[in-house]
Amino acid sequence: RPFGYAIVGLGKYAINQILPAFGECQHARLAGLVSGDPQKARKVASAYGVPEKNIYSYDNFDDIRNNPEIDAVYIILPNALHADFAVRAFRAGKHVMCEKPMATSVEDCQRMIDAARRASKQLMIGYRCHFDPITQSALQTIRAGKLGKLRVVTTENTDVLSIDDPSGQWRVKRSLSGGGSLMDLGIYGVNGARYLLNEDPIEVSAIRAESSNPVFHEVEDIISWTFRYRSGALAHGNSSFTAAATSRFGIQAEKLSGTLNPATGYYNNRFETVAGEETHVLSDPMFQIPALNQFSAQLDHLPDVLGSGKPSLATGEEGMQDIRLIQAIYQSAATRRPVSTDWGDWRRKA
Ligand code: NAD
Repeated sequence: RPFGYAIVGLGKYAINQILPAFGECQHARLAGLVSGDPQKARKVASAYGVPEKNIYSYDNFDDIRNNPEIDAVYIILPNALHADFAVRAFRAGKHVMCEKPMATSVEDCQRMIDAARRASKQLMIGYRCHFDPITQSALQTIRAGKLGKLRVVTTENTDVLSIDDPSGQWRVKRSLSGGGSLMDLGIYGVNGARYLLNEDPIEVSAIRAESSNPVFHEVEDIISWTFRYRSGALAHGNSSFTAAATSRFGIQAEKLSGTLNPATGYYNNRFETVAGEETHVLSDPMFQIPALNQFSAQLDHLPDVLGSGKPSLATGEEGMQDIRLIQAIYQSAATRRPVSTDWGDWRRKA
């Protein structure tokens, strides 16, 4: 039978992106719902054919242990709640898919990794871009050496936060979000710089803009960072909650330059390389084939990894590394000094 997920948290991303994506999955199915709002849960359950007995609240969530139809839980809650729900799910003997950012502290990330190990269950982070066909094609092109050695990567991730929306409100409360635009949007650049360069930075510098807007009293609006690498490359990132939506990665390499724009969109990402007069564009019509959308591919990846023993593309260790780098960015911005991140270069393969 297909692998059964219970979705924890029925907010915007769960309702609009993840639930519909089950329709195109090959190995995964929606088996349960966990919500604080029983009425909403019943409505969603009837729309997706989830039996009433597979609806849980945050309080009776641990009873999920007794439900063999649920193989994994997918946590789509405000960031600070990820760790506790992941640990509870592992205790209940389930695998865990957890949204980005993995957690709001390195300690919580470690707690999640330890709980997975104790339970002998998989922990996967919802890094959907790793399953985006354009990103995958761009990475193949880069790894094949077609651009030459990468020298500079720039990442820009901005969007105007809607504070009237409940999903905007927890994002500016430090206790729930763990940080501002960097935790929510800039993390795509942090993770993106790492997969584009296939290397971890050894030093981080960052600067945070002042904001007089009371909305950004607890968390940052604009923040900008630079990663320095042992290979001699640099990566930059900007994120903001008050600039119009941008998701753009620039790649300057020895032979060719490239742009992913949009780089981290839900659909219609685009990769362009320029060499002199020649422009090569990858904007794949595959996006029109829903079976290949990144959300369904991400949901299918966990059962695929479990069944085949292939390495996971989005482990808890990957998620924790991003949180460690994000904490280094915050530390550098606060102290106005570079922060060493020379922790052993674990990701670089060559
Ligand atoms: P949202 O506010 O729309 O949904 C959050 C859900 O959690 C709501 O149903 C809310 O009722 C519930 N909740 C439970 N306890 C809560 C509490 N104490 N305070 C506030 N809400 C509580 O948010 P969202 O945009 O769906 O984001 C949820 C998670 O998904 C976040 O971690 C976010 O970073 C992630 N996300 C990922 C992507 C992606 O592309 N991978 C996109 C959007 C959001």
